[in-house]
Amino acid sequence: MINAVLFDWGGTLTSFHDVDLIEAWRVAAEVLAPDRVDEVAQSLFAAESEVWERTRTTMRSGRIDEVLTAASRAVDLPVDETIHQLATSAYFDHWTPTTGARADARRTLTALKERGLLTGLLSNTHWPRDQHEQWLQRDGLIDLLDARVYTSDLEHVKPHAEAFGALLGELRVQPSTAVFVGDRLWDDVFGAQQLGMRTIWVRNDVVPFYDVEPDAVVDELGEVLDVIDGWLVAASAG
Ligand SMILES: [Mg+2]
Repeated sequence: MINAVLFDWGGTLTSFHDVDLIEAWRVAAEVLAPDRVDEVAQSLFAAESEVWERTRTTMRSGRIDEVLTAASRAVDLPVDETIHQLATSAYFDHWTPTTGARADARRTLTALKERGLLTGLLSNTHWPRDQHEQWLQRDGLIDLLDARVYTSDLEHVKPHAEAFGALLGELRVQPSTAVFVGDRLWDDVFGAQQLGMRTIWVRNDVVPFYDVEPDAVVDELGEVLDVIDGWLVAASAG
């Protein structure tokens, strides 16, 4: 039985983008210290890398505010919430062109809901919920996702069970009746399998390899529907 189909965000509901992280941080650095852009951008990049490294090794989640605070302290800039918000806002504007939903995202989610399935989103992110929800709203996806969980609101990131559990709990769905769709083999596929979920890997040859066997592999998001339909038919026949 399948009750819910749950999605990762970046590289899954959106197309994958290999973004120059330093360039993105330069935009924030222009706001924080226009006369020290290179130095401050490097500091922001280093602080962010440290947060990502921590999430990889401990699965403890991070938040963008801690990146700005750590980076500012490292280069003796004042920690000022108002300026940090302005810098963050410029930084998100820079990222915005990479946040668009895949062309078949709306159609896929709509079709899943037409089949009576619940849908959900679980993103490993150090960005705040509000920002993500603005992008989902812009692309008409927000009402097609019954629950949306961002690890910036949690203690842990995928593949930690807490992250998946938070989404499953909101939807009141048992893992054995849920499918997880994602582009990362460790975070998404391995993580969801640990809880007993079925998995669909949206093939991404840029993400780190991890030796795990997804239940299905697709190249386009729209193909998820064919996989789910096949499983629904098999379930009703069995
Ligand atoms: Mg992803």
